[in-house]
Order: sequence, then structure tokens, then C-alpha cells
Amino acid sequence: MQERVEVCLSMAAVEWSRHLMNDGASANRVMDALGLAAAEASRWRAEAGGGPPLRPAELVECLSRPMAEWLPEGEGVCLLEAGEPTAWTQEVAELQGADPLLEVQQRVILTALDTLQVREDGERQYAELRQFLIDHPLALASEVRARLIPLGLAFSDCYQSVPAPCLRSMNGEDVCYPCPRCGWPMSMHRRTGAMRCHAVACVAEGVRFGWLHDRLVPTGNKAWDARPVPVAGRVRLTPGLWRYTVLPGLWELDLARRLRRIPGVEVALWPRLDLYDLDVRHGARQWRVDVKDHRSPRRLLELLRQHPPSVPTHVVIPDGRRADLSLLRHGAGPESLWSFETCSGFVRLVSREIRV
Ligand SMILES: [Zn+2]
Repeated sequence: MQERVEVCLSMAAVEWSRHLMNDGASANRVMDALGLAAAEASRWRAEAGGGPPLRPAELVECLSRPMAEWLPEGEGVCLLEAGEPTAWTQEVAELQGADPLLEVQQRVILTALDTLQVREDGERQYAELRQFLIDHPLALASEVRARLIPLGLAFSDCYQSVPAPCLRSMNGEDVCYPCPRCGWPMSMHRRTGAMRCHAVACVAEGVRFGWLHDRLVPTGNKAWDARPVPVAGRVRLTPGLWRYTVLPGLWELDLARRLRRIPGVEVALWPRLDLYDLDVRHGARQWRVDVKDHRSPRRLLELLRQHPPSVPTHVVIPDGRRADLSLLRHGAGPESLWSFETCSGFVRLVSREIRV
């Protein structure tokens, strides 16, 4: 499907979700986004032989259905789940630089940096905060308060109640099912009852469940296990922090784990107050690493160019995005201080270089 159609649909889904959450979205902006997306979807349907024109009101209904059901060459994902943009939608909306979730995440991280940069052990506390957020996508509210208040962070920027589509009643109490890969509560599909994570990477790893006699059973390609957790007293991470801290954090931690298995290699995460993601050392050798997981390599290059490094930096992407490497390398040019690798490629590179 054409990128322009995908971008317009994602922008409309983001605006509609803000409208549903009463998030200060102006009515004109919502209607403009829906009108433009309906026009683009109708044009694409006409071009690709996929049905009659779509009116904005019909498009709103379609936002919560897999695109494959109503658009030629549409993907099997929904634009909204439980009224919130899916990770797919967020990734595509980013192509336009429009991402309200990213703004929230940046506000939290900047506040934490502001507080911590004047503290003597700020660097350690900052890394601990990142690790805490990654380890606690669902957490006890009391534990969260104790952790966030000393850092001057607003509770509501970081955590919120577990929303209704994630809840199920069990023996008289509400429970939710954290995603076995990322830990954020999964949500239930309104029509099919299927439980799944919003993250594209989790779904790609087979995180998908259906019900069998009141028990969740995996329907993806891996035997993941999902267990109920009572929601009383618990809160979930806000979508912005989950999307931009937990999901990339899982790649960062995985890379750190793999590198630490190489004898003599030491890894520090988010060093020097998040100047970059991983500081990798072996004796006197050092590698600076930024882990990036972007749907569009073109957009990734744009973002990278906003902050060019002053020293050589390795940009590491998930193995599943291997196909983007040549475009990234070519786009950055031979003079650039970036070099691009996949996670596995970078682990091999370090192993090779320390043998030299
Ligand atoms: Zn997940």
C-alpha cells in the first residue's frame, strides 16, 4: 500500500484517539484528518479495485478493524485498539513527525535529567530509573510513587489506571494479563475476544492468545505463557513511556546481555545521563552504541541528522530490520561518523575486533 495512504490513516487514528480521550484535540483538526484519510483510502480503493468510497464516519468504524478487511493490500493490524493507537499506527505517524506519545516521554525524561544532573550520583540514579520503567510496565501504585516523587516526576505522566479493555473478571476481582514479552497489560479484541499486545515486535514474536474454557492459550507461533494479575492497587505505564522507553529498552537490554557474554567485555547502559545507549568496552577499546528501532530508515536518517555525533557511533537496529542496512549506510554517506549494524552483526563485530 502507498506510504501516503498509511500516513494519512495513522494521523487520523492518532487524532481520533486524542478526541476519544478528550485530550484537547480541536474538532476541526479531527475532522480534517478524518476527511483527508477517508479521501486517500477511497482513492486507493478505486485504484486497487477494493470497494466503494469510504465516508469519514465509516472510516471511524474501520479504525478498530484489521486493515486487511477493508483496504486492498492492507496489513493485518488495526489502527486503534481499545481506542488507542497501536504501535503500528505510532510508527507510521512518526513519519510525519507527529507523535504526541513521544512528547510525553520526552517531557518525563527531560524532567528526570533536570533533577538528576545536579546530583552527585545522578548518572547511576538515571540508569536505575530507566531500568525501573523497563522492569515495571505494570506496577503497584505505592511502589511507583516512592520511586517517582523524589525525582520530581508527575505520576500521571508516567502511570495510569489499567483501562477497561485490558480487564477481565475472575472470581469476583478484576485481573489483567501482562504481555509475556514486554510486560504491559494486553488488551482484548472487542469482537473476537483475542488477547494481544499492541507492540508490533511482540506480535511478530508470536504474542497472541485466544480463550479455551476460561484459560488463555497461545495462538501465535511460540508457546508463550500469560498469567492473570489482580489490578487492585496496580497501575500501568503510560503509552508514551511504554512505546519509547520499554520497547527500545528491551532491545538495549538484550544487546547488553549478548555483549556481556563475550569474555572481558563490559557494558554500561545509558551512560553520562543518556548521552547514548550503550558504552561497550574491552580493555582500552571502546564502542559507542545507539539502538534504534524505526519503521522507516528514511525517517531514522532524518532524526539522526538532527544530532550528528562528534565521535564514531554505532547505530544498531533489530535483526528483523536487516533489509534497511544498505539504505542507511548509503544515505549516511562514506564520510559520516555513524556505522550501521544489526544486533547480531554488532555482537560479531565486537568479537572480531577484540581478537585483532
Ligand atoms: Zn508486548
